[in-house]
Amino acid sequence: MLEFVCTTLPSRVIFGEGTSARLAEEVERLGLQRVLVLATPSRKPDAERLAAALGARAAGVLATAVMHTPANVTEAALAVVERLGADGLVTVGGGSTTGLSKAIALRTDLPQIIIPTTYAGSEMTPSVGETKDGVKTTQRSPRVLPEVVIYDVERTLSLPVPLSAVSGMNAIAHAVEALYAPDRNPVAMLMAEEGARALAQALSRIAAHPVDRDARAEALYGAWLCGVCLGSVSMAIHHKLCHVLGGLFNLPHAQTHTVILPHATAFNAPAAPDAMVRLARALGATDSALGAALGLHELAGRLGCPRALRDLGMPESGVDQAVTLTLRNAPWNPVPIEAEAMRELIRRAWRGDLPASALQR
Ligand code: NAD
Repeated sequence: MLEFVCTTLPSRVIFGEGTSARLAEEVERLGLQRVLVLATPSRKPDAERLAAALGARAAGVLATAVMHTPANVTEAALAVVERLGADGLVTVGGGSTTGLSKAIALRTDLPQIIIPTTYAGSEMTPSVGETKDGVKTTQRSPRVLPEVVIYDVERTLSLPVPLSAVSGMNAIAHAVEALYAPDRNPVAMLMAEEGARALAQALSRIAAHPVDRDARAEALYGAWLCGVCLGSVSMAIHHKLCHVLGGLFNLPHAQTHTVILPHATAFNAPAAPDAMVRLARALGATDSALGAALGLHELAGRLGCPRALRDLGMPESGVDQAVTLTLRNAPWNPVPIEAEAMRELIRRAWRGDLPASALQR
């Protein structure tokens, strides 16, 4: 019998090509007078162009965002917000830039207009992960949910193919875990399957032709859907593992998701057969017990993504520490989480082995 609770989060989404030209209109609509434009150091020119277009309504540009939202970067940014008297935040960038904005919003409740340029999906979630002393902690708060998200296909054209591929796999990971989430609902499942389908198809086209605008639009559309999934239902062992590994060894976020995803999917496959059928269908993979997990492994390979944690810089000696941290506050998971299975999963991912199901271990 169908039974569910479905909570939809308030958000205004503007999607299309060249849509960031509507930023000034949105700033005005929110009644903002002095917005601070955030970016990573390498995307500073983008932020400067947006600030110039806003004229007097831009208080300045701060291009200090880095991955995993370190506490010291946020503290320095808060001092800039105060000094400039900023009354709102605009970001142009991926999850790292959105993360800095959310960390500021968490403490100031400033309104945020987010222009995502990767497929990470953070812009659709009310959560923020922050890192201090090698430990990443996540909190949820309505304060960090952006007021406006402007998806502009144009701004994703410059995302290099290797980054597009891993970022897209990161987005698919949200869909995978939404399909077997304990609080899943029919709407999230539709979005998850469609999001995974759109990304899997678009990423192969982007790899062949990075400025294919239709493929870029399809990927960004998929990323939006997957981001909504991430924001609306609970994630399980895959997200927990990536979170722990990223924080402990400062591993690149999207690449870590890409490596872990086939392994976490295979691990959970025996306890989530319906999710695997939907996922295999979305990926165009064979409908067998491990079809979806192998489909993800093959997709990553086809896109030229890294498939081993050792290639991302994780030390082999770090496996036990990662297991210990994973078991601390372990999330609900379709297959119960226990130490030896996690050790084996991480070891396989470290070596870059084929994914194996919990039953095969
Ligand atoms: P990122 O934001 O760090 O971007 C990766 C690199 O790509 C950066 O150097 C950036 O400057 C560059 N870049 C971004 N867009 C570009 C473009 N269009 N063209 C050229 N270069 C571009 O990477 P990410 O994977 O998007 O974000 C990772 C961070 O986001 C992590 O800290 C992760 O924890 C966080 N995140 C949070 C949530 C959430 O819901 N809280 C969700 C997903 C990710």
